[in-house]
Order: sequence, then C-alpha cells, then structure tokens
Amino acid sequence: MLNSHRNWVYRLNKTLICGLDPTSEMIAEDAHVHCAFGHWLEQRAQHLDLDTETLSNLVGRHKKVHDLAREMALTVRDGHTIEESLYDEFLAISERFIGLIESAYDALIASINATDPLTGAENRSLMNVRLEERKRIAAGKSSQAWIIMIDLDHFKSVNDDYGHEVGDHVLKGFGSLVRDHIRGDDLFFRYGGEEFLLCISGVSENTVARVAERLRKACANKVYKVKNDKELSVTASFGIAGLTDYKQISDAINAADIAMYAAKRAGRNRVVFDRAGEPVS
Ligand code: GH3
Ligand code: MG
Ligand code: MG
Repeated sequence: MLNSHRNWVYRLNKTLICGLDPTSEMIAEDAHVHCAFGHWLEQRAQHLDLDTETLSNLVGRHKKVHDLAREMALTVRDGHTIEESLYDEFLAISERFIGLIESAYDALIASINATDPLTGAENRSLMNVRLEERKRIAAGKSSQAWIIMIDLDHFKSVNDDYGHEVGDHVLKGFGSLVRDHIRGDDLFFRYGGEEFLLCISGVSENTVARVAERLRKACANKVYKVKNDKELSVTASFGIAGLTDYKQISDAINAADIAMYAAKRAGRNRVVFDRAGEPVS
C-alpha cells in the first residue's frame, strides 16, 4: 500500500519536474478509484474492520491527494507554473494520508488476512476465538446463539458444466447475498470450499429458523448470469444447531454439520434443525 503510493508520488513528481505529458490516469476525474490503492479500497472497504471515521478519512484524503495531483498536472500541461501553496498543500495532504495508513496499518492487515477475498466472508483464522466470544456473551445474558452450516448443492456440477470461473462467480454472488441478508453483528465464515458457517446471536429458535429459511429461499431464487446470456440458480442445504447447547464449539459445529447432511439426504434445498431433527421447510 505504502509502496504503491510512494511509486505513484515518484511518477507524479517526475512528470511535473521533467514536464512530461501527464498520463490519462493522472488527470482523470475519477483517478482516485483507478489507482492500485483506490481500486483495492473500493473493493475491500466494506470488509475492513475500521471505525467509520478512520475509513472516511482514508477515502477522503486519498481522493484529495489525487484531486491536487490532477490540478498540478494540468497546470504544467497547460504551460503554467505550479503555485507554491498548491504544492505545499499537496505535500501536507500526502503526508497526512501516509500517516493514516501507518496508524491503521495493523487493522488493515488484520482485516485483509481475516477476509476471504472471493466471498467477503471471514476465513477460519479467528473463527474459534470469535465463536467462543459469542458463546460467552450469550451465556452471560442467558440468551441463545446459533450455528448455521450452509453447503451449496451439487456445486461440483456447476464447475463441471460451466467452468471454474463461473463457479467462482456464483460463490462471490452467494457471499454478497448472505451479507445482504444478515445483521451487522452476525458472523459469517467461509468454512471450506462451498461450505459456510453463520453465527446468529440473541434470537430464539423460531427466529433463527426463519432467518435460515429466508436465506434458503433467497439463495434458490437468485439468478446468476453466465456466459452467452445463460442463467443458472444454485440451491443450498442448511443445518442449525445451538452454540449454547454444547460444551465445546466443535461439538456445536459437528451437530450443525450433521443436520446439514440430513438436509442433503432429505433432498437438499432445505433447512434442518439439530434438536428437532426434522426438516423445518
Ligand atoms: P452436495 O450437494 O452433496 O454438496 O454436492 P457438491 O457437488 O456441492 O459437493 P462436492 O463436495 O462433491 O463438491 C464441491 C465442489 O465445490 C467441488 C469443488 O471443486 C468446488 N469448489 C470448492 N471451492 C471452490 C472455489 O473456490 N471455486 C470453485 N469454482 N469451486 C469450488
Ligand atoms: Mg456442496
Ligand atoms: Mg461441501
């Protein structure tokens, strides 16, 4: 991140000092979303574990750096001299932008490392710690927390019939569908290839069953556009178990997994509850 910014500043200075023609990226109105950092930020902003103020400062200062750079590049291109105050402002904002990246660096790296880039779900690196925490909080409040295991149905045939790229496209769409359906404090992990784990806290058995059912329907109804105007849909099977019903996290995950496999055996595209052992849809 810092290196890509420094390289960019170097290229900009060279253009300004040596009077080179500015590149189209340098003077584009939306240059801030086309540079490597901007592109990265645009794609990942929603997954970053940063407070809103830091995030909006990061986005704002980054855009300002590009706006000032454009102004300077156009000034030189038009044969004028850059005002000293403009260059000073550019240097100051550039330094403040670098300072922000440095101070948020640990959070940025932690976020990047903990997120699966394809689906936007968290990867498993912190899963157990995060689930332990949810279990502890739920127990402290005498409320319940739930694990929902989700596995896409017949996903191998999506790859076989349409290719791995389409499979990736479906996984990406599925990830954003789930993120659109859950609340901010729900946890969403990519458990394995096409298998996902949700943790929903502070709701009753009926509510978690409704959440899963709504998600199942949304998943089945989603249409993925693929090559040659073809469309396809992919269903998923769901297994629910009470995180607070088991002593060990791994036992609760196992129970949800067993329920999910029961949903597969019962014909897929359904939700099965661990305790009832009966399909709820
Ligand atoms: P079931 O309904 O029983 O779950 O059948 P399935 O075909 O979904 O299950 P299976 O375990 O046989 O196959 C899972 C497939 O998911 C195989 C694997 O190649 C694919 N897969 C896993 N991760 C990825 C990924 O990141 N990208 C793509 N394109 N495919 C993936
Ligand atoms: Mg599957
Ligand atoms: Mg699977």
